[in-house]
Amino acid sequence: MTNLYGLEISKLEELMLSLGQKKYRATQLFSWIYEKKAKTFDEMSDVSKSFREVLNQDFSLKLPSIFTRQDSKDGTVKLLLELEDDSKIETVLMPYNYGNAICVTSQVGCNMGCAFCASGLLKKKRNLEVHELVGQVMVMNEILASEGKDRVTHIVIMGTGEPFDNYDNVLDFIRIANHPKGLAIGARHITVSTCGIVPGILRYAKEGMQTNLAISLHAPNDEIRNKIMPISKRYKMDELMAAVKQYEKEAGRRVTFEYILIKDVNDTIECAAELTKLIRGTLAHVNLIPYNPVMENEFERSEDKQVRAFFSYLHKHGVNATIRKEFGNDIDAACGQLRAKEQKVL
Ligand code: SAH
Repeated sequence: MTNLYGLEISKLEELMLSLGQKKYRATQLFSWIYEKKAKTFDEMSDVSKSFREVLNQDFSLKLPSIFTRQDSKDGTVKLLLELEDDSKIETVLMPYNYGNAICVTSQVGCNMGCAFCASGLLKKKRNLEVHELVGQVMVMNEILASEGKDRVTHIVIMGTGEPFDNYDNVLDFIRIANHPKGLAIGARHITVSTCGIVPGILRYAKEGMQTNLAISLHAPNDEIRNKIMPISKRYKMDELMAAVKQYEKEAGRRVTFEYILIKDVNDTIECAAELTKLIRGTLAHVNLIPYNPVMENEFERSEDKQVRAFFSYLHKHGVNATIRKEFGNDIDAACGQLRAKEQKVL
């Protein structure tokens, strides 16, 4: 059984041709499953009966099932979804005033091992398939529709997992997300976040996407970064910065550096000064994220006044910076808190 949510348009076109159908059938199917939200092939009234039989036989429109749902006071919704092999993944909806953003998980577990992050405790079990990436948005859209709310308008691939460690599937997902007859989400409303996999960044630069790229930097130099992000030993800061510049040039897009502020680790004014120097020459924007404490480690959130001082330093020195708005702290749905506890690994 092939899950139809797993095929981006050009793959679906190839499939139609291989089944002796016309190429336009692919767009027709896209429109049925994403625009009209068909749940079965039988409702596809402009598809011939004989081809509907083929579809019924070899294809599915299966979505992940909702295992648990938690609602935060601020409107954040966290779902624990169950996949066909019983793996559980978390997906979060954040209701911003400009739209509904979904934080999508890209892998079951994660192998990057960042010291401060709860997700990495669960080593990577496998990559998510394209239909499982798409499924997270579809399920969230169903919930929103049933509550009379607007659909998902923004996607951040910042849940559990490293998207560039599942490059091909993530790319197909982005294509489906961005297709006008697919999930119909504008490229500039789609953000992929990487811990700094240099070959991934260089490859992404060549995709000709108008999407946003975020890099989890979290330190102004190799010494601090090595302590908290093992990937930093593989791709040194120099190499990472060179890749960012290359990306800016080739993709014609600036990146966002994410920088979580952890008390006494990376939040001093010296760090702010070093960061300012480091990113000079890029067009980058810095998104400061006060660290969300998780029970599995000893790291602490920087004091509010330190967050403000760090921000002011950047601001005064001409660095474009913002402090990230936080969602879902009360339901363990804030940045870095996803860990699929129910998998009983903890
Ligand atoms: N692997 C990708 C995407 C998933 S992590 C990446 O590293 O970018 C999404 C973001 O949450 C990353 O910036 C990550 O460093 C950050 N994060 C992890 N744990 C956190 C925590 N406890 N508090 C705040 N941010 C955290």
